[in-house]
Amino acid sequence: MTKNYIAGEWVNATEASPDINPSNTGDVVGEFARASAAEAEAAIAAAHDAFPAWSRSSIQLRHDILKKVGDEIIARKDELGRLLSREEGKTLPEGIGEVTRAGQIFQFFAGECLRMAGEKLPSVRPAIDVEITREPVGVIGLITPWNFPIAIPAWKIAPALAYGNTVVFKPAELVPGSAHALSEIIIKAGIPAGVFNLVMGRGSIVGEAMLKSPKVSAISFTGSVSTGRQVAMKCVTGDPMKKVQLEMGGKNPMVVLDDADLNVAVECGINSAFFSTGQRCTASSRIIVTDGIHDRFVQAMTERMRGLVVDDALKSGTHIGPVVDQSQLDQDLNYIRIGKDEGATLAQGGELLKRDTPGFYLEPALFTNVDNSMRIAREEIFGPVATVIRARDYEEALDIANDTPFGLSSGICTTSLKHASHFKRNAEAGMVMVNLPTAGVDYHVPFGGRKGSSYGPREQGRYAEEFYTTVKTAYTFDGNGPYVPKTKGSE
Ligand code: NAD
Repeated sequence: MTKNYIAGEWVNATEASPDINPSNTGDVVGEFARASAAEAEAAIAAAHDAFPAWSRSSIQLRHDILKKVGDEIIARKDELGRLLSREEGKTLPEGIGEVTRAGQIFQFFAGECLRMAGEKLPSVRPAIDVEITREPVGVIGLITPWNFPIAIPAWKIAPALAYGNTVVFKPAELVPGSAHALSEIIIKAGIPAGVFNLVMGRGSIVGEAMLKSPKVSAISFTGSVSTGRQVAMKCVTGDPMKKVQLEMGGKNPMVVLDDADLNVAVECGINSAFFSTGQRCTASSRIIVTDGIHDRFVQAMTERMRGLVVDDALKSGTHIGPVVDQSQLDQDLNYIRIGKDEGATLAQGGELLKRDTPGFYLEPALFTNVDNSMRIAREEIFGPVATVIRARDYEEALDIANDTPFGLSSGICTTSLKHASHFKRNAEAGMVMVNLPTAGVDYHVPFGGRKGSSYGPREQGRYAEEFYTTVKTAYTFDGNGPYVPKTKGSE
């Protein structure tokens, strides 16, 4: 059984759970420890004790550790990508791509350690200087979902450590293998005891312990809206209150206008809706198509879908891997039933598939004749199930795109500069894509959404410092003028 990493030691747990390959349910990736609340508390205490020294550690040390982690991840991308695809079910090229991204993120934040800047300003009073600096926040609890088992942990752990915080990392129950492998690399790179802790286990036990603990100063969470809400409530009602950042679900629109390049639109549609089995928060499940291109688009899209190979994630030639587990598969099938009951037309796919090994194989599904008020157009399905919604013109398409409780990513396919520019300004989303899939982002720029999709500061790139640091404003009287302790009307 693999162990948790607490206070610089690999620690046995009393409970364990199997990590199952969704392409072949007979294949057990490993037995992984499940931490108890007491073990989570020990990890928090270790991170708390390690914080003073780490928060003052040299930026060269932090740089060197993060750089080593990034370099090793990239050097082992094929092996780690295989492990990731085996436990999560995304295709091998997608798994290797995600691992590479995780390595790049660590390398980026290694560089950020050396670029921490503050500001120095004159005061409104004579002979006083004002300095604005950023300081680490404290112990950060990181709670991650199963769909990006290494990239999401990387984009939380790397900035947390870079800016001088200590970490308690709780990965999703379904994907402990990638989390464990990443932790081994971080430890091998020389992270001091207590600075980084891995506690695999249930959200309701390990996650709750982090939310309850007064020693945890901040929580960065990625996952579903319903869990995110509970996390936020506990962070703000706890004593002391915790800083909190949430990245949650999406129901991302992709608009296709009459003047779009049909090929580009279909490739964007296929990628946005079905790659990674549709299990991306930035996936598009609402493709909004204007009248003049609607029928041609649906025909080309369904034809392209029939050529998609759904099979074992590790097989070469597989385009779409399995759904992650039985409960997600049940959810996808349930929404396919709901779509039919609501009167939408299942234009393509939606059938369970049999392959050489027992796995959760689902044919990508596309609904047409969908109204934006239907549940399949409003609720996050999180599987390879997409809808096509017909719109009269650009204006109506934009209204439909924005008519959603979510606001993560939003795309448009058009050759009109006028409409692309208007859409960029008016799409109610944190990220906008023009002639690109709604998913697929860079790692050196901010990531996040609006409305029901996100809460708190952005993740990734330099914007990550907003969450992982706290600002201090320091005033110094230098003695070179009259002593004027107060300005008129000041505190
Ligand atoms: P989830 O909400 O079920 O679980 C997310 C994490 O929260 C897991 O580690 C889980 O163990 C933990 N958790 C569960 N209950 C908890 C509790 N009571 N207290 C503390 N922690 C608890 O989500 P999931 O099914 O793992 O992931 C899928 C969801 O994640 C989708 O909604 C998807 O859109 C979202 N997601 C969002 C982004 C983004 O950046 N916006 C990225 C990826 C995934």
